[in-house]
Amino acid sequence: AKNAGKHRYACYQPHMTAEAMERLQLEQDLRQAITNNELELHYQPQICLNSGTLKGVEALVRWRHPEKGLIMPQQFIETAERLRIIDALGEWVLKTALAQTVRWHETSKERFTIAVNISPLHFEDEQLLTTVNQALEASGLPPEYLELEITETRILQTKAGQANATALRQMGVHVAVDDFGTGYSSLTLLQDLDIDTIKIDRSFIAPLADKPEAAILLGTIVGAAHAFGAKVIAEGVETLDQARILHGVGCDLVQGYYFCRPVPALELPATDQSLYPD
Ligand code: C2E
Ligand code: CA
Ligand code: CA
Ligand code: CA
Repeated sequence: AKNAGKHRYACYQPHMTAEAMERLQLEQDLRQAITNNELELHYQPQICLNSGTLKGVEALVRWRHPEKGLIMPQQFIETAERLRIIDALGEWVLKTALAQTVRWHETSKERFTIAVNISPLHFEDEQLLTTVNQALEASGLPPEYLELEITETRILQTKAGQANATALRQMGVHVAVDDFGTGYSSLTLLQDLDIDTIKIDRSFIAPLADKPEAAILLGTIVGAAHAFGAKVIAEGVETLDQARILHGVGCDLVQGYYFCRPVPALELPATDQSLYPD
């Protein structure tokens, strides 16, 4: 099958395979997913290693398809990018996550941040600043409680991406580099840009138990981040051992199945209890 190019809209053709037709159907469904109210957010706690308490949550989108059930983001984010509906999706995620966070802040004593993933495509868009501003104003959430996560650090090196990052930080919004250590990201990023948080990819966390060198590498990353005033979150923490090693090398926050899976808003653990048993 031919790949649909950037500006080519797929449409039905008689020679299409069943698989191609299913993909096309899914694209059509995705275009309507927002208006049909089929998207939902799950939230995963970010836990402070020193206090054991929840300091932030990351919003992770899911698509509740009427026939296919719950579809995970890896199955539709790329399609949303290709169809150029990622901005609308991002806007929905922002508004929903911010409104939810304000509700949490109203009912719990503790304030915590909300982390929202922004597609690199969206991050380069001028419109992003307006969208973020509007979402903040509509919800009433103070900007310092919002953290935007961006995976592709290449974007932070383009003119448009850099301008957006600077403007966001001037607004008081935090910027996090997601999947740190993979792809194009490197420590020089900390020097060149004002990054609030780095999120260390889980490929660095998994080897911790059986390779002592892995902890040394992590300690170096943490040290460099701290020297530049950035916080460090480790992702994909699945065991207590990993958490202890991370604590030992000075990592600030952890996120992972060991502590809590991504959950619907109503199932978020209380903010006044320790999620770190020791
Ligand atoms: P990510 O931003 O790196 O998010 C972390 C992913 O790791 C999530 O998968 C999360 O459920 C999973 N995870 C959390 N703890 C663990 C753990 O201990 N072990 C393992 N193996 N996995 C863990 P999820 O929810 O399927 O999201 C996948 C990716 O989809 C995200 O990766 C992010 O890049 C993208 N994504 C999710 N929500 C959004 C969104 O609202 N907008 C955009 N643009 N992308 C999103
Ligand atoms: Ca993320
Ligand atoms: Ca990540
Ligand atoms: Ca990822």
